[in-house]
Amino acid sequence: MAARVIDGRAVAAHLRAEVAEQVTRFAERIGYPPGLATVLVGDDRASAVYVGAKQRACAEVGMVAFDERLPADASSDDVLELLNRLNADPAVNGILLQLPLPAGLSGTALTGLIDPAKDVDGLTPVSAGLLALGRPGLRPCTPVGVMGLLASVGAALEGAEAVVIGRSNLFGKPMSQLLLAADATVTVCHSHTRDLARVCGRADIVIAAVGRARMVKADWVKPGATVIDVGMNRLSGGLVGDVDFEAVAAVAGAITPVPGGVGPMTIAELLANTLSAGRRQAQIGA
Ligand code: NAP
Repeated sequence: MAARVIDGRAVAAHLRAEVAEQVTRFAERIGYPPGLATVLVGDDRASAVYVGAKQRACAEVGMVAFDERLPADASSDDVLELLNRLNADPAVNGILLQLPLPAGLSGTALTGLIDPAKDVDGLTPVSAGLLALGRPGLRPCTPVGVMGLLASVGAALEGAEAVVIGRSNLFGKPMSQLLLAADATVTVCHSHTRDLARVCGRADIVIAAVGRARMVKADWVKPGATVIDVGMNRLSGGLVGDVDFEAVAAVAGAITPVPGGVGPMTIAELLANTLSAGRRQAQIGA
């Protein structure tokens, strides 16, 4: 194996330790720690596991975690009422509406009702617009986490060819905008892209976020390229990414594993976003 394996757990642990320290300072200055409210609608098992992990992570860095739950048959008005209450609560600095929502509820519409100042997932139209305009705002956690991983291995972004596979609002689009803002030359691929292998082959940085197990092959990757695997595919043998890890690691310069790569960064960046939202609401700097 030639590639350096990027240790997402270590980078995330470092960020969490930094956030914990800053949370202590915040609480000393403001009188109480930042608070994050998670909203879980229904009883989807995977969503409940994700929410539980976010709640624990909050407690570990000294933040207050508000665990809000609604039944699967909750109406849009029920969710709206809860979001309005959380938007108005000064102890709640960040709000996360866990997606997907049960059938009949629109995740896009309801996410858009979160106060942009508390939008720690960075998914409201206001946050997306601020990112597109290059103005300060809360950014989606996973793409920011990927930027942190790239920085951790000193990946040179200015002028680099970056290929993002996937164009979702959750990941691909914000990822491409963060790379553009860092002066990379960005190509965004999707299910209609012709000759994906050839497009990937010219990239210094390949970021795969598709949801297709081991799709990115070794002969798609330029020797020495940095490969970031965002995919999470649950197979009978366990969790695998969108990159054929063993084969690609023999060609790439650096690569993230799955698990232990991008995944740990998402929660760490959620905590960082909550702290930063709290600071802006309290009108204090770092
Ligand atoms: P998504 O909304 O389903 O988007 C998938 C994207 O992949 C779409 O843009 C789609 O193109 C594209 N695509 C599908 N088949 C393709 C193909 N054969 N060739 C090229 N592109 C193709 O998924 P997502 O929410 O962005 O998530 C993607 C993956 O990342 C999933 O495995 C998810 O679990 C994972 N993820 C992980 C984290 C984390 O914290 N580690 C966070 C977010 C997502 P079209 O637009 O043309 O349909």
